Amino acid sequence: MDLSFSDDDLAFQSEVREFLQTSLPKDVQERTARGLHPTKEAAVRWQKILNEKGWMAPNWPVEYGGTGWTVAQKYIAGQEFGLAAAPVATPFGVSMVGPVIYTFGNQEQKDKFLPRVLESDDWWCQGYSEPGSGSDLASLQTKAVRDGDDYVVNGQKIWTTFAQYADMIFCLVRTDNSGKKQEGISFLLIDMKTPGITVKPIYGLDKENSLNEVFFDDVRVPVANRIGEENKGWTYAKFLLGNERTSIARVGRSKRQVQRVREIAAAEQCGAGKLIEDADFMTKLGKIEVDLMALEYTELRYLSMLSAGKELSAEPSLLKIKGTEIQQRLTELLVESLGMYGAAYEPSEAYDGRNETAPGPDYAHGPMAEHLYLRAASIYGGSNEIQRNIVSKMVLGL
Ligand SMILES: Cc1cc2nc3c(=O)[nH]c(=O)nc-3n(C[C@H](O)[C@H](O)[C@H](O)COP(=O)(O)OP(=O)(O)OC[C@H]3O[C@@H](n4cnc5c(N)ncnc54)[C@H](O)[C@@H]3O)c2cc1C
Repeated sequence: MDLSFSDDDLAFQSEVREFLQTSLPKDVQERTARGLHPTKEAAVRWQKILNEKGWMAPNWPVEYGGTGWTVAQKYIAGQEFGLAAAPVATPFGVSMVGPVIYTFGNQEQKDKFLPRVLESDDWWCQGYSEPGSGSDLASLQTKAVRDGDDYVVNGQKIWTTFAQYADMIFCLVRTDNSGKKQEGISFLLIDMKTPGITVKPIYGLDKENSLNEVFFDDVRVPVANRIGEENKGWTYAKFLLGNERTSIARVGRSKRQVQRVREIAAAEQCGAGKLIEDADFMTKLGKIEVDLMALEYTELRYLSMLSAGKELSAEPSLLKIKGTEIQQRLTELLVESLGMYGAAYEPSEAYDGRNETAPGPDYAHGPMAEHLYLRAASIYGGSNEIQRNIVSKMVLGL
């Protein structure tokens, strides 16, 4: 097992660092460093810069516009983006539906949708979860009934991240009820401007509207917008979920958070000294750093296996569980480091045009919102309990 980087990898690392230093817009970096959701305008502006550099789609095959990076290069880029507070491209287009389209879509669908994903001309959202169908996704009820060259879709999706921004939604719909629930699902690409679609906001613990409900009321969708075969959508859905769970450890981002906690602890008073001199506080940070290092080397081991042509099974689930636990522990400590100023959380209002001064030092704005939002990290992308079930079955054979 070789965990060291080659000279080419190190040269690539320098290239990524230089690109981020020169091309990452300061406002985008600042918002990400505070842990706030990107605005649509900022996300699209940054993604267009990435696309111009040819770095929009690290995981796509080169023939569709991918980077052709090795496994190690992808890892390095992920680390450097995390450390520099550079947002990764919004996942719904480039990481989720894009690979489904180039793997299972027809030529017309590839020609129509893939360039628009790379150019960020379409903002996609993910219509999987429904009330009552989250972990048990295959029980979904949103129905699509064939009518000539269209399907007529009725039902409801929930927790649809950024649906309010979206031009397109990829949806799992029920096209058959007669057999096993997994065998009656189809995968549709739906234009959000189609009559009959209503988006209603859900406000999260962070007081932000990133989540939504999406209602479908006699929505006509051309059959040409179905991916692959009717009733085979579960296969495409599972392929997508597999992609969703890779690169979920977020080691680079957590390393930046450690740095952030250290900086705040160096500035904050604790008794007669600074917080960074407080043994109890630093022990908590030290324990997280040890776990983070273990996670980093675990991820490197898995990458080394992938580079050697081996297949992963439950490993992404382990990365998801440990990665999200560490992210949550870090934002908890971040809030603790701020004392009473950590309690204030009105991120958008504080930054979007409000002219009164927010309380506390500048670095205190953002962590509470991020801390509250990240409670969701152990739920989205398949809850951590479900990941533990996967590990217990596939690794422990239970
Ligand atoms: C911030 C956020 C963003 C999201 N974005 C999207 C999106 O864009 N598109 C989309 O389609 N969905 C999205 N989701 C939905 C997400 O995928 C679901 O919330 C998740 O799959 C869990 O489903 P659920 O909420 O219905 O909870 P449930 O499945 O009802 O689970 C409730 C609890 O029971 C536990 N549980 C359930 N089944 C088992 C089991 N078999 N064994 C052990 N424990 C179990 C779960 O772990 C959880 O703790 C998002 C969720 C969040 C929080």
